[in-house]
Order: sequence, then structure tokens, then C-alpha cells
Amino acid sequence: MTGTVLVTGGTGYIGGEVIDQLLADGWSVHTTVRDAAKSEPRLRARWSDAGERLKVFSADLLSDAGWAQATAGCDAVAHVASPFPMATPRDENDLIVPARDGTLRALRFAHEAGVTRFVQTSSAAAIAYGHGDKEHFDQNDWTNLAADPPPYIKSKTIAERAARDWVADNAPGMVFCSINPVAVFGPVYDGDLSTSVEIVKKMIDGSIPLLPDMGIGVVDVRDVAKMHVLALEAPAATVAGERFPASASFLWMRDMAASLRRRAPELSRKIPTRAMPDWLVGVLGLFMAEMKLIKGELGKVRDVSGKHSEDVLGFTFIPAEQSLEDTARSLTERGIVKL
Ligand code: NAP
Repeated sequence: MTGTVLVTGGTGYIGGEVIDQLLADGWSVHTTVRDAAKSEPRLRARWSDAGERLKVFSADLLSDAGWAQATAGCDAVAHVASPFPMATPRDENDLIVPARDGTLRALRFAHEAGVTRFVQTSSAAAIAYGHGDKEHFDQNDWTNLAADPPPYIKSKTIAERAARDWVADNAPGMVFCSINPVAVFGPVYDGDLSTSVEIVKKMIDGSIPLLPDMGIGVVDVRDVAKMHVLALEAPAATVAGERFPASASFLWMRDMAASLRRRAPELSRKIPTRAMPDWLVGVLGLFMAEMKLIKGELGKVRDVSGKHSEDVLGFTFIPAEQSLEDTARSLTERGIVKL
């Protein structure tokens, strides 16, 4: 494929993989980072033979500066950048404002530059929260903001809603769709780890001594990136308005641990085997932000189906167990976890 795509957030886990696959597919890529002087050398080292096919621009989600330059000459945008921190901020607007306003900013500048296709990296966070005991979700479900979910979940839901409303009101001819991943795993490029990958890191390096009764959806970063590329390359009628959940399967933490022990026994010395009692999660939640978040997830199934995405985009998800094994192997092979 030829043409130019702006990938926002080229320093990120998913953004990097999207750039990788687009360059391999023949696209030219513009990417935004917060500070090009700081980040460009790292990106150039990763794609050392990209030359003029990769251009790096400074543009923050919170400011107009740089966006006109970054979108100029682009045919399409993959808007990946959004804050995804481990800790919950005291003020939810620290996440909501960059997520929502950054998306609207990217859309506005893209539209002004004549971009006709826009793929937003949304999240299962915009699908599967605030519905009581409901366990199974798909592309038709929306997180219920009236249930006052945690700030990150709000930020992704508000950003996707805002994007869809903006396109309907201001650029109805633009081909817009979202990719909605559950927790993303798979090979890592360097030690700047996404929050999701931290879960496997903490499991194999011994920082999680006991396994809480909690489950998560798992998807591979290579599949998430592939979905962005397919959404950019598919016929407009196939993707316009779509939501594409990215999810291989839902796994309990105890099953993630068991699968890693089985598939990579040499990396499993520190993987916990014993369960963390729910009461302990509650106590730890009093002074550990991560545990406070986990508390609401205990025993909860939140299974988002990726079948619609496989059917429409025409691919099969890498099995979750493979993805977890590849995460653990790359963390050790790259020396990020020393066992
Ligand atoms: P990541 O590695 O932390 O990447 C986040 C990216 O967003 C980074 O490039 C970061 O830039 C950029 N960013 C954050 N705040 C910014 C700001 N104010 N201005 C400009 N750039 C900003 O996380 P990721 O896992 O790749 O996540 C990428 C996207 O996927 C996010 O939209 C996230 O919500 C979504 N997602 C991720 C997962 C997952 O499990 N990983 C699941 C569902 C959805 P810096 O390097 O400068 O911080």
C-alpha cells in the first residue's frame, strides 16, 4: 500500500507496533511525540532504514502546536496516543482532558488537512463497564458512565463518544472506526513498558507474591496493530462507523500464571502459585492504588468478544497463552527482567 499515515504516539507500545507494520506494508509514516528532540533518536534507531519514509513531529494532545505540520500531506490517521498510567490520578481530568481534547484536536487537524480515514485506538474500557453483573460484551455495548467508573475508563469512553459525535456533525464523509482492545500483551521493544505489560513483568519477576481472584481480557500487540493496518487498508464500506473489539480471550490471573509455568518453565521460578484472599486485597487497597482498582474486579468476568473483528477484518487472533509466553520471553531476552 502507498500513501502517508499519521500515527499519534510513536513512542508508545501500540503506536510503535503500528508504525512497524505500516512501514513493512509500504506506507510512509508521520508520527507525533511530545518532544521530537528527545524521542526522535530512539525512533530512528528502531527504524534505521526508514529514511524519509518516517517523519517525527512534536505535538502534545493538550496543545494545537505542531498538529498542522504533522497532518499535512497525510491520507489517513491512526490516533493511538492517550494517557494510560498505572496509577489513578487524583483529578480525573488529568486523563479525560487529553483523551477527549487530544482526539478532537487530531480529528480537526486531520479534517483540515484533507484526511479521509481516521482510526481511533479506543478500548474495551469504552465497552464493558458499569453494567453490574453482565459478563459478556461485544461491539454493540457501551460503558455506562452513569455508574461513575474509574477515570481511565471514563476517559476512553468519553473520547470515543466525542470522536463519533464530532465526525457525525463535522465530517460525515470521513471514514471513521475504532479499535477497542482489552489488555495488550506480546513482545516488547524496550524497557519503556505499557501498563498492561507490567502485569506479566510483575508476575515473572516476583513482585506479585499471591494471585488475586481477578481476570482480564488478553490480546496481542501484533494483532492490535494488524487491526489498525487492516482498518486503514480495507474498503471504506467495510470499516466506516465500525467498532472493532480486539480480544483473544478472557483469562483468570491463576490461569495466566499456570499457562506461563507450563509453556515457559525456565522463566517461572518466581511466578506465584497461591491465591491472594479477597480480604487481603481489601486491606492492601487502603494504601495501594493498584489494589484499590483490583478490589472492584474480584471474581468478575468481563469477557469482550473479538469475533466481529475477525469476521469483518478477516484474521484470527493469536491465542492468549501464546501472547503471554511471548511477553515473558521478550522481557527476559531483552534483559528487562533478570531472573
Ligand atoms: P503507552 O505505551 O503508554 O503509550 C501511550 C502513548 O500516548 C505514548 O506515546 C505517550 O507519549 C502518548 N501520550 C500520552 N499522553 C500524551 C499527551 N498529553 N500528548 C501526547 N502524547 C501523549 O500505552 P499503549 O499501551 O501503547 O496505549 C496506546 C493506546 O492504546 C492508548 O490510547 C490506550 O488507551 C489504548 N489501549 C491500550 C491498552 C493496553 O492494554 N495497552 C488496552 C486498550 C487500549 P509519551 O511517550 O510521551 O508518554
